[in-house]
Amino acid sequence: MRPEILYSLFQPVTRLAGVGPRIGKLIEKVAGARLVDLLWHLPSGVIDRRFAPKVAEAPDGAIATLTVTVEAHQPPPDRARHRQPYRVVCADSTGRIELVFFHARRDYLEKILPVGATRLVSGRVEHFRDQLQMPHPDHVAAPEAFADLARVEPVYPLTAGLTSKPLARAVAAALAAAPDLPEWIDPAYLARRGWPGWRAALAAAHAPESAADLTPTAPARMRLAFDELLAGQLAVALIRAHTRRLAGRALAGDGRLRAKATAALPFSLTGSQSRAIEEILADMAAPRRMVRLLQGDVGSGKTVVAFLAMLAAVEAGAQAALMAPTEILARQHFRVIAPLAAAVGLPVVLLTGRGRGKARAEALEGLASGAVPLAVGTHALFQEAVDFKDLGLAVVDEQHRFGVHQRLTLAAKGRAVDVLVMTATPIPRSLLLAAYGDLDSSRLTEKPAGRQPVDTRAVPLDRLDQVIAGVGRAVAGGARVFWVCPLVEESEKLDLAAAEDRQAILARRFGDRVGLVHGRLSGVDKDAAMAAFAAGETDILVATTVIEVGVDVPEATVMVIEHAERFGLAQLHQLRGRIGRGDAGGTCLLLYGSPLTETARARIKVLRETEDGFRIAEEDLRLRGAGEVLGTRQSGMPDFRLADLAAHADLLAAARDDARLILERDPGLAGPRGEALRVLLYLFDKDSAVKYIRSG
Ligand code: ADP
Ligand code: MG
Repeated sequence: MRPEILYSLFQPVTRLAGVGPRIGKLIEKVAGARLVDLLWHLPSGVIDRRFAPKVAEAPDGAIATLTVTVEAHQPPPDRARHRQPYRVVCADSTGRIELVFFHARRDYLEKILPVGATRLVSGRVEHFRDQLQMPHPDHVAAPEAFADLARVEPVYPLTAGLTSKPLARAVAAALAAAPDLPEWIDPAYLARRGWPGWRAALAAAHAPESAADLTPTAPARMRLAFDELLAGQLAVALIRAHTRRLAGRALAGDGRLRAKATAALPFSLTGSQSRAIEEILADMAAPRRMVRLLQGDVGSGKTVVAFLAMLAAVEAGAQAALMAPTEILARQHFRVIAPLAAAVGLPVVLLTGRGRGKARAEALEGLASGAVPLAVGTHALFQEAVDFKDLGLAVVDEQHRFGVHQRLTLAAKGRAVDVLVMTATPIPRSLLLAAYGDLDSSRLTEKPAGRQPVDTRAVPLDRLDQVIAGVGRAVAGGARVFWVCPLVEESEKLDLAAAEDRQAILARRFGDRVGLVHGRLSGVDKDAAMAAFAAGETDILVATTVIEVGVDVPEATVMVIEHAERFGLAQLHQLRGRIGRGDAGGTCLLLYGSPLTETARARIKVLRETEDGFRIAEEDLRLRGAGEVLGTRQSGMPDFRLADLAAHADLLAAARDDARLILERDPGLAGPRGEALRVLLYLFDKDSAVKYIRSG
């Protein structure tokens, strides 16, 4: 139960005076629906209105607060009302300035700027020909308001329909309503850092005095970021401590099946594959439950690693299952694993949602009796009807979705199953730490021998004809081509239209050798399109980004990505990873619409420089921030409101250490600081972690 002290913070913003349903909706859109969300909506800029020169001294382009007398109103002639501005001529002892309003309401302007009155006007001064102007002053006020107005004003990120005044007013009201919360940061640490308390930090963060106060290293911002990171680290530490307490089992094989399998492999393992296997086997052999992440680019050889771990489970007398996120990937894993399993003389079944009838019944029976030690499949594997005699290891291929949190809880619920999560998205260490705490992780950093580098080039979109001609030459030479279509924001429909258009254009030249795959196709049709491409019945496969990453078509050597600037760095890297998987090197053409933004240019440069997924991920984090590193916001990674992982890496490490220490000293969070930390957990919506606090 959320502590009472937080009630006011979790009220809807519409409870604030002056925030009606309309403004409330807009605030919800830009910040969130609750008071606490609004408080975390920090300024992105400052406007200094303290500069109060005489009119004649107001420089061009400066923000200034002027004290002037209103001399005359010059409304536009009626017939030009929509084209010409309304001017209000003002002056002080040094000169004249015209306030300029487009689409003005005359009665309103006459009310706020009556002729003869003295007024404060604040806004940007422009020198236009020989005249001084202030188009649409930000503030018009009576001279008594000088102290309120001539100050540094925060600038907030806004949304259409929401202006800064009502937002700033709402923030001020929310600040006034914010309670004092007990201090959860260690007092010595707080003092050493020189950080303010929680409420004071919020107030300071909303009242920046200069641009320096907006930087991630400003004390108020650091404190708030640390709060967020500490809440996250404490939550994952609690969940982990809970899983650790659950009984695990020691699964130690004797190596006999693994020896057979490695002998049957047509290659030897890379150094990082061997290392990863050792790490995994050590975890499995330990009596506690394993939850380990296996990271490696597409093609880095994760499947083999997973398979050897599965064999170790079988050697120890248990069963092992590999779960893939999609049907296509499950089948692909099965194609790799089936011959290897045959080589060591073990039966393996494929279980997907589509299987029916006798084969399925037999597979289920084999798993239930234990006659079948190995299974590959989709989530269908873990549905109720599937009963394992003794499942010891579950390998979960996440590809690009992340559900380690769910896996952790799944592992917490189920039997003593060791869990290995595979992901093809190299996650920067800081992000991994932020999301999962000290999750055990193995990285495949080497490419299997014989991989040729991919030649990556950036080409402006207006050279599409040349690109198509080049693709024609490549196809004539026997190449197969992935053609990825532009991502149209938030519209699967438009994505699809773009892909269909492109297929039509390519089909004019290449006839029926152009396939199409997209998210709206049924599973069967998707498989069919992929299979036709894999079998060489089509030479070009046009695809929206929904095509399954990880799909293995070694013959595909060319990848064209339209509007590459719209993709994230990691996403481009993943896409590119699908070519050059055979012995021939690949070519990746990044087609971009001009002009390129700075970030897009930097991203393309990184891609041209390296194929190291881990380096690319770090660069991506640096260039774009955590929220977008994984290409989509639905990646399952936490979204930070206050912390900036690229800038706060040291705070993250400190939060991790602190969380560890806290649970060592007071695992039940029962002391006074523990009480405060519970408040912190609730403040950051870590309600689900609270139930893992050890009682008694
Ligand atoms: P991932 O699952 O990481 O995308 P896979 O396990 O599918 O990668 O491996 C990609 C390809 O590389 C497969 O054809 C696999 O047989 C091959 N492979 C794996 N390990 C090695 C290795 N050490 N040397 C050569 N080829 C390898
Ligand atoms: Mg174990």
